Amino acid sequence: MIKYKLFCRNCNLKFDSWFASSNEYERLKKKKLLSCHKCNSIKVEKTIMAPQLINKSNADEKVSIEKYNKVKKTIMGYQKFIKENFKFVGENFAYEARSIHYNSKKKSKGIYGSASKKDLKELKEEGIDAQMIPWIDENEN
Ligand SMILES: [Zn+2]
Repeated sequence: MIKYKLFCRNCNLKFDSWFASSNEYERLKKKKLLSCHKCNSIKVEKTIMAPQLINKSNADEKVSIEKYNKVKKTIMGYQKFIKENFKFVGENFAYEARSIHYNSKKKSKGIYGSASKKDLKELKEEGIDAQMIPWIDENEN
C-alpha cells in the first residue's frame, strides 16, 4: 500500500488516498477514475508522496525516548542530591531508620538505601517517615 497526497485543481482540496501501488495510481488516473472527494472533479494530481505511517511511528518512538531521558535526568538529579546529603545504608534501611527514630540522641543526617514495600509499610505504622523514589542504576545504559 502506498499513500499519496492528492490535490484538486478545481477546488484546491488536498486529501490523502491509498493505492495498492504507484502503478495503480497511474492506471486510475489514465482511466479518469480518480476524482476529488469534495467536488468530484477529475483534475486531481498527486503532490508529494507521504509514507507517513513509518515516519510517524519513528517520531513517536523518538518522543518517548526524549521524555524518558528527561525524566531520567530529573531522577539522576535527585540521586546526586541524595548521595551528597544522605548516608547510604543499603539493605539496612529499615534498621537504620528505626535506630534514628528511636534514639533521639543519635544525630544523623538523612539516610537512603533499599527497603521492601513491607518495610516501608511497617515504618509508616511506627510513625517513621520514609519516601520512596525511583532509582536508576547508573551502570544501566
Ligand atoms: Zn475538488
